[in-house]
Amino acid sequence: MSELAYPYEAPASQALFDRAAAVTPGGVNSPVRAFRAVGGTPRFMVSGTGPYLTDADGREYVDLVCSWGPMILGHAHPEVIAAVQEAVARGTSFGTPAEGEVALAEAMVERVAPLEEVRLVSSGTEATMSAIRLARGFTRRTKVIKFAGCYHGHVDSLLAAAGSGVATFALPDTPGVTGAQASDTIVLPYNDLEAVHAAFAAHPGEIACVITEASPGNMGVVPPLPGFNQGLKDACAADGALFVSDEVMTGFRTSRAGWYGVEGVVPDLMTFGKVMGGGFPAAAFGGRADVMAHLAPAGPVYQAGTLSGNPVATAAGLAQLRLLDDAAYETVNAVSARIQSLVTEALAKEGVAHTVQTASNMFSVFFTDRPVRNYEDAKAQESFRFTAFFHSLLSNGVYLPPSSFESWFVSTAHDERAVQRIADALPAAARAAAEATA
Ligand SMILES: *Cc1c(COP(=O)(O)O)cnc(C)c1O
Repeated sequence: MSELAYPYEAPASQALFDRAAAVTPGGVNSPVRAFRAVGGTPRFMVSGTGPYLTDADGREYVDLVCSWGPMILGHAHPEVIAAVQEAVARGTSFGTPAEGEVALAEAMVERVAPLEEVRLVSSGTEATMSAIRLARGFTRRTKVIKFAGCYHGHVDSLLAAAGSGVATFALPDTPGVTGAQASDTIVLPYNDLEAVHAAFAAHPGEIACVITEASPGNMGVVPPLPGFNQGLKDACAADGALFVSDEVMTGFRTSRAGWYGVEGVVPDLMTFGKVMGGGFPAAAFGGRADVMAHLAPAGPVYQAGTLSGNPVATAAGLAQLRLLDDAAYETVNAVSARIQSLVTEALAKEGVAHTVQTASNMFSVFFTDRPVRNYEDAKAQESFRFTAFFHSLLSNGVYLPPSSFESWFVSTAHDERAVQRIADALPAAARAAAEATA
């Protein structure tokens, strides 16, 4: 198997990884977990509590991934766990409507003004896939505009992220996605309204929707320039296309009403996941009632799911949303700002070129001194410095996302002790980043 490239390799995790590799492709159930971008042994976690994760070797880490966003209250929050235990004791799935899914939908609609109706699904991928189908069914048009570097789950037509320049027809990014599926997708550079206007001019009356991450976090944090989202909305409205804002990552994280709550641009459709599931598989899409009325059984656009609105998942999500009051967001924003300034201080001290970009409490560190406005900019960073930075932090008990193209996430549970652990680990990591060579 793989050579132990790092002195602090984790033998119990490595043994599990070897077992996993025999029965699961690449040893993981989602590719980024395999540490391919940074090398080394992926840590197999056995438990989480508050801001900490504990791996199979018994080592504890301050978690700056938070399950890629969902664990905004930290791991095993007692009130969320109690809600789950109470729900689970009443049965795990009914295959009928149940009150929990109504309560979760009501809580979402109450918080996010443009959300008039929602349909619950089980993953963010299902949410964006269904929103695209609905947009096509509603407009009776075929083409979709997406942006390079924006991730919307592994939906066939949305995996086409290739192609820079203006109005490039996408090539499939992965074998298994057909040219036909990709050819209805137009991939444009992020934060480039001129490219959007050119695409609408080239395909009048053909574009069903523009889908964008409300504030992208999947190429690292690259917030929309002022006016970009409103420009998308206006371009869509002028042509009769729908504006689909993917809030799977930002929803109920960047504010009580997600990125919509920060910026106030009103989408036609929105997608959600991550935070709203409280660590369970729950996601949703929704928006304008007249558009949602086209969904089965109210309308002709088919969409369904055996476990959609699952009673345990909705109980977890609802418990989490109820705990996310204004004070909770203040706490998360404040701890995020603290960690950002600690990172900047440590890297500046070692003379490492870097740019910290934020979207409310989401943030990431790019190893470049230039602002990152799109995927091309993000790719221009010195990722080899991130690799050294990552492994130094990991060896000192701080768990970062294992790629420089990801957001970092914090929670209400990241207290003074957790922040101090990060502060203690940063100087060595900054030195490692400074000394790294390509
Ligand atoms: C995570 C994510 C998805 C996909 O959600 P899954 O639950 O992993 O399928 C879609 N869009 C965005 C913006 C995401 O961050």
